[in-house]
Amino acid sequence: MSRRIFKAIFLISVFICLVTMVVTAFVLFHFMEKRTQTELKEALELITPGVEEEGNDYLEDLEASHTDRRITWINADGRVLYDNQADAAHMDNHSSREEFQEAVSSGSGSSIRHSDTMMVETIYYAERLPDGTVLRMSSDQDSIWAIFMSLTEPAVVMFMFIVLLSLFLALRVSQSILKPLNELNLEHPENNDTYEELRPLLNKIRTQQDVIREQQRTEMERAEAFRREYTANISHELKTPLTSISGFAELMMDGSVPKSMVKEFSRTIYDEASRLITLVNDIIRLSQLDDRNVEYEWTTVDLYALARENIRVLQAAADRKNVRIYLQGEKSEIRGVHRVLTDVVYNLIDNAIKYNRENGTVEVSVMPESDGRAVCLKVKDTGIGIPEKDLDRIFERFYRVDKSHSKAVGGTGLGLSIVKHGAALHHAKIETSSAVGKGTTIAIHFPDNFINDCTDGN
Ligand code: ADP
Repeated sequence: MSRRIFKAIFLISVFICLVTMVVTAFVLFHFMEKRTQTELKEALELITPGVEEEGNDYLEDLEASHTDRRITWINADGRVLYDNQADAAHMDNHSSREEFQEAVSSGSGSSIRHSDTMMVETIYYAERLPDGTVLRMSSDQDSIWAIFMSLTEPAVVMFMFIVLLSLFLALRVSQSILKPLNELNLEHPENNDTYEELRPLLNKIRTQQDVIREQQRTEMERAEAFRREYTANISHELKTPLTSISGFAELMMDGSVPKSMVKEFSRTIYDEASRLITLVNDIIRLSQLDDRNVEYEWTTVDLYALARENIRVLQAAADRKNVRIYLQGEKSEIRGVHRVLTDVVYNLIDNAIKYNRENGTVEVSVMPESDGRAVCLKVKDTGIGIPEKDLDRIFERFYRVDKSHSKAVGGTGLGLSIVKHGAALHHAKIETSSAVGKGTTIAIHFPDNFINDCTDGN
């Protein structure tokens, strides 16, 4: 900015000086021309009475005293009667000369003619005498070009001086303009004693700072509330199985458990410990997804193969409930993080089995969407469904529609949160539809900005 202001001031000053020099030269030159014309007129008026009375004799007497000016006496037909600088007998007829014609028609006339080289110009003034003859006087002077040429040297010196002066002034002015700007206190825009024109801008900055501070405060409060709730939830979720493990272990330690019950107690401790491990693993997965500094390994992932693999892993769980899993679609590759996508697919199919009815079905489909670039992963079950009012909340951490049911089927309340964050990492859009008692369909569209309806209602 400093350079721009400096450059602008410098160029403007040099330009103004140059224009001023040229305009002044033209004005002065024009003034000189006018003054010469006036002098010619006055001189001509002085000699006119003598010429009227004595004619050539008078003019010849004058010759000695007016050598710097040319005097020509012209007959009414344009023939030269007398000229103090040339032989009148050999001169051209002057009837076509501008000042002569003007003088004949209106009593007096003037004109300016340039030499062939344009370096000299001749100023003429002519007057008609009572006998119809015309008396003319002329004077040579340097043309404006000749003046410019002769002034070249001083003009260059002057120009250099102007350039230096402009440089100096431009530097000083730009510095003094920018000083208050550089010293602006943007931390506290209201504490500035600066240009009045900047006041609206400073006010705006202050207002925006207030808004940002308020937003930051709200954001921090929200984050803090979220953190507290999340911590409380985690503590609660950890505490329940730990209490149970500790209680059963204590009973067994006391030896107060009959031998026949030891196996059952041990199973309970094992189940609760497994739940704890699953919960802790989910918490770790989520905190990794929350961490913006984690660097993922992005590769090409075939979602169809991934779905097939997860179905294989979950087949035993499905068999226990007599749930049949169908997979349809085709090889569908996206750019993604294999580990995160595995968690997404696993949790969706796991839920579809967990919340299904006996002898129900799960349909998994992986297909490219219409333009061949985006992929839609859809998991549809014939399970208990989700009430409309809960649909928006099931992706929240630890939110369960039916807590006891979730616990009974080994849920942690974090599965869909992992799905949500995993999808967000891949800029994918989630669509959920469900009908209580009929089933649920969750579809994920990869990548973002490509929305195609691949859910079909339940
Ligand atoms: P959980 O570990 O309890 O399954 P999730 O985050 O995976 O936790 O899901 C949150 C809640 O959403 C579940 O407790 C359940 O009530 C509901 N839910 C998720 N998937 C389904 C589904 N396919 N059918 C019915 N309810 C579901």
